[in-house]
Amino acid sequence: MAELISVADAEALIAAHMPSFGVEQVSLDAAIGRVLRKPILAERDHPPFDRVMMDGIGVRWSDSLPTSFPIAGSQMAGMGRMTLSDSGACLEVTTGAIAPDGCDCIIPIEQTRRDGDRYVLAEGYQPTKGQFIHGQASDCRAGTEVLASGVRLAAPEMAQLAANGVARVEVAVSPSIAILATGDELVSVDELLGEGQIRRSNDIAIAAALRGHGLDRVALHHVSDDLSATTDALGALLAAHDVVIVSGGVSMGQRDYVPEALAALGVKRIFHRIAQRPGKPMWFGVGPDGQLVFALPGNPVSSLVCAIRYVRPALLAAMGLKAEPLEYVCLYDDVQTNPTLICFVPVHVRQDETGRSVARSVVSPTSGDFSSLVRAHGFVQLSPGESRALAGAVAPLYRW
Ligand code: AMP
Ligand code: MG
Repeated sequence: MAELISVADAEALIAAHMPSFGVEQVSLDAAIGRVLRKPILAERDHPPFDRVMMDGIGVRWSDSLPTSFPIAGSQMAGMGRMTLSDSGACLEVTTGAIAPDGCDCIIPIEQTRRDGDRYVLAEGYQPTKGQFIHGQASDCRAGTEVLASGVRLAAPEMAQLAANGVARVEVAVSPSIAILATGDELVSVDELLGEGQIRRSNDIAIAAALRGHGLDRVALHHVSDDLSATTDALGALLAAHDVVIVSGGVSMGQRDYVPEALAALGVKRIFHRIAQRPGKPMWFGVGPDGQLVFALPGNPVSSLVCAIRYVRPALLAAMGLKAEPLEYVCLYDDVQTNPTLICFVPVHVRQDETGRSVARSVVSPTSGDFSSLVRAHGFVQLSPGESRALAGAVAPLYRW
């Protein structure tokens, strides 16, 4: 049987075998949630002109400002630049308009009263020079990098693309992923349950961990515990996808055919079994055409933890996503460790009175008990230790 390898070595070996999935151009609408692969520079100054920040009137400031101004015209948002030629008069303005030439002070409508063809300042109101004018380029200057390559395109990033005229966006190609659930005991969510059967949920959980992270091309399949059926199913999926994630069938049981089927298909084993709990039987290999195969143990906690700890970050890194720095939390309670294995412990995270993130372990008696996972935000990684990691110890957190 293969030696156990360390979590760090498993991570490094996976990273070393990641291909580049390439880049593609998509419409702005299709770019939501994708990984940007080209830096975006400001198309022009932002704002592109001195911009009015309040509805009101524009005037020429002086330290002996009159208290009433005849209306010389209206400079509305979207209009070309006007000029205030009479420094004792005013122009009506709206938010978003160009600050007219000759105006260096915007007086909000709330501080005025209309009196026929004039505006009169509110009693005692004393405007200051330059007020409510958002200076050209004060947000950013033309040519400044507003988005770096490698960011995920969420709402603020989408606003930058639109504001800078990027109608076609260069994003990472999302790999085509198949998830194969193995097991004679498994039926789908809407099938009738026979004796000894359960509904399959791992594939749904793994797909959920990937979708919404820019990994949306996910197809779900199922195969029974039979060597030739497993080989056929894996062969077909390897021919059609960049990545195959298998759930179950990778342990030491009589009916765990996945490693044998993969070997028969020419998938090179890179490692099998990691010094971790849960998820020790995890298998990783590379197919004849560079397809990536992650075979995860079938226990629901194991398969989800492995998908989040290894599969998702490796695929996103290969797509060029800049990784966020690891998030660390303090343990709320003492947590049992294992003398030789790294332990992944599901935790509920909250902030204590001092603002520290504190993680309370969510007890799941075995890696087959997964109802308690809904109370957890993710899991912490605890180094091997003779007895326990103590309350107050700091550990990295991996969120679902
Ligand atoms: P295995 O790794 O195939 O030995 O499966 C380990 C345990 O996980 C067994 O109790 C299986 O019934 C369960 N299991 C395997 N695959 C799934 C799945 N897709 N959904 C829910 N439970 C599963
Ligand atoms: Mg099985």
